[in-house]
Amino acid sequence: MSKPKLFIPGPVDVAPETYAAMAGDTIGHRGADFEELYASIQPGIRQIVGTSRPVFFSTSSAWGVMEGAIRNLVQKKVLNLCCGAFSDKWYGVAQSCGKKAEKIQVEWGESIDPEAVRAKLSEGGFDVVTLVHNETSTGVLNPLKEIAEVVNSFEDVLLVVDTVSSLSAMPINFDELGIDVLLAGVQKAFALPPGLSVFITSDAALERAAQIEDRGYYFDFCEFAKNDAKDNTPSTPAIPHLYALRERVKVILKEGLEHRYARHQENNAMVHAWGAKHGFELLPAEGFRSKSLSCFKTPENLDQTGWIKAVKEKHNFLINGGYGKIKGKTFRISNMGNETPETMQELLDALDAELPAFLS
Ligand SMILES: *Cc1c(COP(=O)(O)O)cnc(C)c1O
Repeated sequence: MSKPKLFIPGPVDVAPETYAAMAGDTIGHRGADFEELYASIQPGIRQIVGTSRPVFFSTSSAWGVMEGAIRNLVQKKVLNLCCGAFSDKWYGVAQSCGKKAEKIQVEWGESIDPEAVRAKLSEGGFDVVTLVHNETSTGVLNPLKEIAEVVNSFEDVLLVVDTVSSLSAMPINFDELGIDVLLAGVQKAFALPPGLSVFITSDAALERAAQIEDRGYYFDFCEFAKNDAKDNTPSTPAIPHLYALRERVKVILKEGLEHRYARHQENNAMVHAWGAKHGFELLPAEGFRSKSLSCFKTPENLDQTGWIKAVKEKHNFLINGGYGKIKGKTFRISNMGNETPETMQELLDALDAELPAFLS
């Protein structure tokens, strides 16, 4: 039997067309063929991100760019907005880069309060804020627009936003929001295999980076900008991933962004309705719930491990049994990428079929 179809919140299921696209010819990256490939992706990906600025391609997972943003931008002190596994870890990464860091920490399952950000920034001394838009570990969707407005009201404070599990699933407009760095790995909402990240930088971010001497090489934002001017990347990129990205961007725009957002919303609502039917409670509060995944609290009377295993063994579908410190206490279902109401229904039917045997 083939590997289970992934309904975990990343990596997610990859379409056969995407795998096929990855099998394109290997080309030299310092030449016209590559420049053509690079340039051909730009208009579409910029539309998805809502920007007229270049989108850079990093051959790394998202953490490469997340750490890179710290190295490129933090001169004084970073404020990390922490509400789950990924956002919490960013604080640790900032410290391990030798940067001064402070955090606002909320309980896992809660969202970041823009007014708390205002109060903290008012203390002064900060020059960067990091925010995870859609905290994949808890299913919390943070109020990006409101937080961006607060950060933008402080001069010389740059906003870095992780949209790993939201970009292309929910509306995000880089230019309108006034973000300084937006980044995403491609193995979640974009439904590519892991191995590539995309990111965008503002002028202010590039100006800041240019002033920082020990920003390193591999994730040097100035190198990305310099090479982008020649439709190229600083070092040899994952060319198969760029073929795949070109293919997915075409598919995304063919569906249409509004339709894509609506499909995610509909699939997500199906999962929520299914959960409500069983009395499963969502971890995040109403109004702060992701549209690309659902994180439920595990009821006391459910043998979650057994249930997930049975669904995998009998139906070949995989959901996730919680991440980090809420592993075993929550379970998560992704509706990212290419899923449709039909494929979501197949999953929910399989979950239903196995559930009674694991409830006590
Ligand atoms: C998965 C994820 C990451 C980390 O991505 P890697 O590909 O493991 O580097 C970061 N942030 C969020 C919100 C994620 O969901």
